[in-house]
Amino acid sequence: MPAPALVILDCDGVLVDSERITTSLLAEVAAEAGWPMTDAQSITHFKGRDLHEVQRLIETRVGHVLGDGFIPDYRLRMARRFAERGVPAVAGARELLDWLDARAIPHAVASNAPHEKMRLTLGRIGVGPGQADGWFGRFEGRRFSAYDIQRWKPDPGLFLHAAAAMQEAPEACVVVEDSPSGVLAGIAAGMRVVALADLTPPADLAAAGATAIRASMPEVLRVLQEWTSEPAAGLLP
Ligand SMILES: [Mg+2]
Repeated sequence: MPAPALVILDCDGVLVDSERITTSLLAEVAAEAGWPMTDAQSITHFKGRDLHEVQRLIETRVGHVLGDGFIPDYRLRMARRFAERGVPAVAGARELLDWLDARAIPHAVASNAPHEKMRLTLGRIGVGPGQADGWFGRFEGRRFSAYDIQRWKPDPGLFLHAAAAMQEAPEACVVVEDSPSGVLAGIAAGMRVVALADLTPPADLAAAGATAIRASMPEVLRVLQEWTSEPAAGLLP
């Protein structure tokens, strides 16, 4: 495997542990519209999907339109819940970012969500002296939203857009994803995809074509280390 020239990280579920909050909120919203579901079903139906598609899926299921207020109302409730409960970093994400920085491996974040949602999540992590915007600022100039190009994963457009903006060929890029839609997008873009199987069952990520599947971010980091021909830290003498 050639060394990754650019690592493109998904945001929700890869850098920020927001999916536990949003999957249960989406289950609530679907139930209110007339489609009761568990959190596990919410993950299956909605995780990694953009809100327009979520709205279409619910409307098709319940047989009536939810209207123009659906997405703004959802975003308000989501922001309130992030503020109430906090949004931690995914365990091991900080170490992975620090490793990329230390090796000067270019990396970027590419999300189906708008920049404002990334500000609500990334902006709360790693805040300190000289880092008023936390990880939101850390990715300044390397932050890509599907809303920028109006194409959402599983369309490969966002990853191709990020690679072009960072001046790297798709085949030199590695994507880190946690959703089948993101895995599909990365593979369709001609990139290698390391999938983090956290909330999503590994079989679903395998079915989407993930190049490698790991259960934790430290294990994802070890895959990147292998691909850069670097011995894992634990194996160093
Ligand atoms: Mg995700």
